[in-house]
Amino acid sequence: TIGMIVLDQHGHLAAGTSTNGLTHKIPGRVGDSPIVGAGAYADSSAGAASATGDGDLMMRFLPSYLAVELMRAGADPSAACKTAISRIKRHYSDFFGAIICANTTGHYGAACNKVPGLSQFHFMVSNPESDIPLLKSVDCF
Ligand code: ASP
Repeated sequence: TIGMIVLDQHGHLAAGTSTNGLTHKIPGRVGDSPIVGAGAYADSSAGAASATGDGDLMMRFLPSYLAVELMRAGADPSAACKTAISRIKRHYSDFFGAIICANTTGHYGAACNKVPGLSQFHFMVSNPESDIPLLKSVDCF
């Protein structure tokens, strides 16, 4: 999945995903990426999020929607991302997934579930404070 969150100079937030789906997916599978609230969600009055991972499982928890609602309630983006992952982890401790979150002030965070093969999640940040996009990472938990 390529997941993206954009905050423009007028404070409009947008989020999107593109995905090639899962390996060996069955023909016609849609997955989580295009499902609003699952693959991505944005509300310019609260925040935006975009998720990647085992979409068949993650889409049942609407992690992007949950993260945005948590930011609306005052959570910072990192905490919102972590809670969205924790919600899934509670039921599927070994699921493969990660999420990025940003709020209306441009603060951002990410979280991922720690499983064999995924101990850190990398993402890029581009903003007016830096000339070049910056590579960031978070430790999975
Ligand atoms: N979430 C995507 C899917 O299940 C896969 C991915 O994140 O790479 O289709």
